[in-house]
Amino acid sequence: MFALVDCNSCYAACEQIFRPDLRGQPVIVLSNNDGCIVARNAEAKALGIPDLEPYFKLKSMLKRLGVHVFSSNYPLYGDTSNRVMETLRQYSPDVEVYSIDEMFLQLDGFTMDLNDYGQQMKQSLWQDVRMPVGVGIAPTKTLAKLANHGAKKIPQTNGVCVLDTPKKWQWMQKRMPVNKVWGIGTRLSKRLVEQGIITIADLAAADPKQLGNLFSVNMERTIRELNGESCMPLEEAPPPKKQIYCTRSFGQKVNTLEELQQAACLYAGRAAEKLRAQESLALTLHVFITTSRHTESNFYNSKTVKLLHPTNDTRMIEALVKKTVGSLYQPGYSYAKAGVGIVELQDRSHKQNDFFTPGQSMKSEALMVCMDGINAKFGRNSTHVAAQGVGGRWAMSQNMLSPAYTTRWKDIPEVIC
Ligand SMILES: [Mg+2]
Repeated sequence: MFALVDCNSCYAACEQIFRPDLRGQPVIVLSNNDGCIVARNAEAKALGIPDLEPYFKLKSMLKRLGVHVFSSNYPLYGDTSNRVMETLRQYSPDVEVYSIDEMFLQLDGFTMDLNDYGQQMKQSLWQDVRMPVGVGIAPTKTLAKLANHGAKKIPQTNGVCVLDTPKKWQWMQKRMPVNKVWGIGTRLSKRLVEQGIITIADLAAADPKQLGNLFSVNMERTIRELNGESCMPLEEAPPPKKQIYCTRSFGQKVNTLEELQQAACLYAGRAAEKLRAQESLALTLHVFITTSRHTESNFYNSKTVKLLHPTNDTRMIEALVKKTVGSLYQPGYSYAKAGVGIVELQDRSHKQNDFFTPGQSMKSEALMVCMDGINAKFGRNSTHVAAQGVGGRWAMSQNMLSPAYTTRWKDIPEVIC
């Protein structure tokens, strides 16, 4: 048995944790640079506020409706997510963190009433973190996803839906369109509809081998899973990423080479942090700079460059990025965005030293461990390479940012009683 626990409107819910005055009120969260709406709580959805719409278009309407608007506050969401996962780990020794707001728990051999158990998870998440969730429980991951959907959409479930018999999951499958199946996007579902497969029940009744040949082995697995045969095991340690990108649009357009280099170095530093966190070394980088697509004089330039030897040292990576941006830069343009990708990387434990070029020194390994340690303790970017500059104009605009309640000392909530 698998449980899938999914936070309800995660980002909007995070904004309400330390603002109990906002409970029951419409709340939305915007993307980077306050661009688009990326999260809406149930109250905001009920007002008919559309998803992924540019903020500036709806600004006056949101004001009129009394919607509370927030810039995205990723330190808060990330830390809240860790707390949610910590609480859930008490409910099973085998878990998979599937995304920032979803976790699978394996419940094989659990003999208690699973509906009660799901309710307990839900209640302790509310008690510990003030995070509302839906819990779906079923014999396969694909069915657990479906059950989770039921937990959110069917009020009678009270947030926990257990699909443990074919009769129960078939009831759901008949009532839902095929595009709601886990892993079946808009494009695949269009092709399925052409085959006369409209509801999930239609897909579950299809021949897995035949559709597997027509589509892919994943489709075959999905059909088996929809019938209660578990084909997708828990992935307790997700495989390390094969590419790491950090790209951002600037808060304000950037004209000078110096500013562009600072921004690119900051992104390189972020990518290097992620690289070290997954125990990898970088070999090849992809660096790009671009103007806005909407301006008349368009300019895009990019380059793929190789590091001297495999490394996870921020200083080496940023030095190469700085040099590369220098060669990409053309004066006279207003740049809107830059990005750095680590596109070729290797596992740190497979490091091969070259006889002719010295590899990464022990000293630089130690320095990186120290830097990551300080930044983990005192907040992101407490120490950084000077090439990133200080407080550039390119920094993201976040005009409606909430405090970093749980990750910055000066933002810690005050209670007056
Ligand atoms: Mg969610």
